[in-house]
Amino acid sequence: MNTLTGIEQDRITELLKNEENMFSRKNPRSRDLHLKGKQSLVHGVPMHWMSNWASPFPLYLKKAKGAWLMDVDDHEYADFCLGDSGAMFGHGNEDVSKVISDQVYKGSTVMLPTEDAVWIGENLQKRFGLPYWQFTTSATDANRFAIRISRIMTGRDKVLVFNGKYHGSVDETQVSMASGKMISQPGVHPNATDFNRTTKVIEFNDIEALDEALSSQDVACVLTEPIMTNVGMVPVKQGFHEALREITRRTGTLLIIDETHTISTSPQGYTGAYGLEPDILVLGKAIAGGIPAAFYGMSTEVAEVMHKYTELDNYKINHCGFGGTLAGNALTLRAIRATLEKVMTDNNYAHMKTMAERFEKGVTDIIREFHLPWHVTRIGARVEYMFSKEAPLNGGEALEANDPRLQAAIHLFLLNRGVLMTPFHNMALMCPQTREENVDKHTEAFRECVKQLV
Ligand code: PMP
Repeated sequence: MNTLTGIEQDRITELLKNEENMFSRKNPRSRDLHLKGKQSLVHGVPMHWMSNWASPFPLYLKKAKGAWLMDVDDHEYADFCLGDSGAMFGHGNEDVSKVISDQVYKGSTVMLPTEDAVWIGENLQKRFGLPYWQFTTSATDANRFAIRISRIMTGRDKVLVFNGKYHGSVDETQVSMASGKMISQPGVHPNATDFNRTTKVIEFNDIEALDEALSSQDVACVLTEPIMTNVGMVPVKQGFHEALREITRRTGTLLIIDETHTISTSPQGYTGAYGLEPDILVLGKAIAGGIPAAFYGMSTEVAEVMHKYTELDNYKINHCGFGGTLAGNALTLRAIRATLEKVMTDNNYAHMKTMAERFEKGVTDIIREFHLPWHVTRIGARVEYMFSKEAPLNGGEALEANDPRLQAAIHLFLLNRGVLMTPFHNMALMCPQTREENVDKHTEAFRECVKQLV
């Protein structure tokens, strides 16, 4: 018996074997496509991580709509992965898809700004409280540029991140902790980054360590999610955000809040809902109906530096280090405007939250029924169950509590019964089209899975 998770490893092995067999039998077309794909694509997929599911091979998609998707073997799924937030407002959202298809015929990318840009700038000002905005093609890029401008502004090299974070494939953030010390992130090539020069890493919620790390005044910025979502969910301790803001201000360190996942909290993100005051706010993935896009907002002080640094001499090219030929183009802006105007509304969020509460209750009841030492965390429309009695205090604790084989067994069991969860953790996301029957489908399959495991 694993005393941490309450589940025997033998049971997990048996369940995994049964489910893998069932999956392979059920999905001949996906299996064939994967075999064929392997002849021309690394791991048979366009991005290596697309083969990184709990299943023996990935499902290949036929079509998706709202909270529903269908694979090439015509199986239907209640989708709680929602493209790991990229489709947080539903696949093929009507309001956004219409303007995308309209704009495609009118010019997608022309190196000129459009009227939509100004509308969006004003909307983002009101929504998030920061006065100036820029666009990128990914949240990774937005984080990279937020770090760059922080370095330009402070003249310092280091970025501080929290153990267990994920902010995209940003080189300087590819670190972890072992025995209280910074190490290169296991499994990620350091890409010639000298982490001792570029990075500090501490545990989330540790005010004392934060004070100490920033007191030497060699850190340009702290890059953090408002609550951690990429190592399972790590809720924030009371008083941590206030301390984070006070210490960063006192030490002249910029605070970057990455809302890419926590935008599940409210139409104004966690920042708006809880009154955070970042110097830079980053948001990507869900904002453009599936078109790669992100934006970052900045305070007047940061914008002043950016204006100055990127000051233009119209007769000379100036790359500045803030790139993206297709960033903020006419098509993307149209999609972002429609998302902000028609989709990121109080009504939609109220519905998503109601569905998430139903999901949370369903899982909580089953954990209680089977006396499992597990817990559930929810942040607006995002729910996560984890294999520890209490929510972890930090990334280190979250990593320790995880059992990847148990997680894989649950995911595969659910997949075989038409429920799609986010890979790598037990995260479920609700969209405006999620219905009670979708949630209940998960609850029933999850209960059956747990019954077989205990
Ligand atoms: N920030 C956060 C909080 C994320 O979770 C992710 C991706 N999961 C990113 C940034 C990077 O997003 P992308 O890969 O779309 O650039």
